[in-house]
Amino acid sequence: MNAAEKHAHFVAMIEGKQDVGRYRVVLNNGHVEGMLLTLAQAEGFECLTCKVLCGRGNDAFRPVGHAEPLGFDAPGVGLVFRCVACLDGVRGGEAR
Ligand SMILES: [Zn+2]
Repeated sequence: MNAAEKHAHFVAMIEGKQDVGRYRVVLNNGHVEGMLLTLAQAEGFECLTCKVLCGRGNDAFRPVGHAEPLGFDAPGVGLVFRCVACLDGVRGGEAR
């Protein structure tokens, strides 16, 4: 697979993870929030705020906590990420 095919494969995989569900998100600062997230967000593939695609290991994204599905099974769910643009733009209590 070349890079373009890999990217297309990745995009198609993300498009298959757009079901929205309710999650309990435990942020690194200790806050717990109920959030409606796509599976892609809850699995750490998309920014929690703007849904930009995360590249894992890319400096542009930071783990901000972890998600737990409420009332349904979602085995791949774990760390959730925000992009630096959103982190820099965050106003209020959870900014750091
Ligand atoms: Zn973002």
